[in-house]
Amino acid sequence: MESNLLENSLIHLLDAVDRLDETIPDIISLKYSVFHLWSGIRLLLEKRLSDEHRSHIHSNKKDTHHPKINVDTGWDAPLDFKDLKEKLYAFCGMDIDKYDYILNKIRKDYDKIEHSKFRGSKVQITSNLVEVWPFIVDFISKHMNLSNDSYSTNLFDQTCEIMDTHLKFIRDKKNEINDVLLNQLKKSFYAKPLKCPVCLQDAIPLLPNSDPKYSCAFCNNTTHWKQLALECGSDLNYVGPFDCLNCSSHGVLQTKDQWICLSCCHTWEFEQISICNMCGERLVWSQKNTPYCEDCKRPV
Ligand SMILES: [Zn+2]
Ligand SMILES: [Zn+2]
Ligand SMILES: [Zn+2]
Repeated sequence: MESNLLENSLIHLLDAVDRLDETIPDIISLKYSVFHLWSGIRLLLEKRLSDEHRSHIHSNKKDTHHPKINVDTGWDAPLDFKDLKEKLYAFCGMDIDKYDYILNKIRKDYDKIEHSKFRGSKVQITSNLVEVWPFIVDFISKHMNLSNDSYSTNLFDQTCEIMDTHLKFIRDKKNEINDVLLNQLKKSFYAKPLKCPVCLQDAIPLLPNSDPKYSCAFCNNTTHWKQLALECGSDLNYVGPFDCLNCSSHGVLQTKDQWICLSCCHTWEFEQISICNMCGERLVWSQKNTPYCEDCKRPV
């Protein structure tokens, strides 16, 4: 029997949300939830691509680890996420870039589970699930036809029903920490909380720290400033990190409205600092005569 990508995707998604529907899910449930969430999303994207043409969901690249795999088993290497995204854009005109931060987070967690390096809590995983849920709902309503498919409709309805519990869980948790976070923000060097790279909530205040770690008010995860700067710069919507003009640490990020240093907690207005026009890697004071950093100006 030909496998039905949509059904398969919805079975995975239902299992992912169902496994979190316990007060304290055990580690096996947490891992399978992430595992099946990513598999479900992937299958959904593949389904859309295969609706254009079935051959699109197979990789054109040779599987270098298993060069004979196609000959021996007839099994094609699956597309990696980057190729999947590119093909969705090329063949279906779909641009899913704005969901990169959350899709990449779940994909990376999935990879960590495969390599036994994953640690996560119900709060963190449910928060990610709630963050990606609008994408899933939007994708299914716009690109999948469930109208003559009662089995798939039933799977999706069950998933939505359990999701109501998860959405409420996250709403309640946000309300619960609201006062604490507001109080912390009064002492913060930066008026807004930073996005936590683990739970993806805006819940890390830039507090003066004798301790070099930052704490998320939502999921309690603590991260060393170096790691936080790297993760915010590469995975979330911040630019950086750059070397600080005040303390020289590699901890400066550009947020939507300011420059902040996660090491010395200094902040600067947007206009005060710019990125060197020549190397694009170092910061310069904007009022200097040239838009180039000292290293770039130095004769070779
Ligand atoms: Zn967090
Ligand atoms: Zn600094
Ligand atoms: Zn430069």
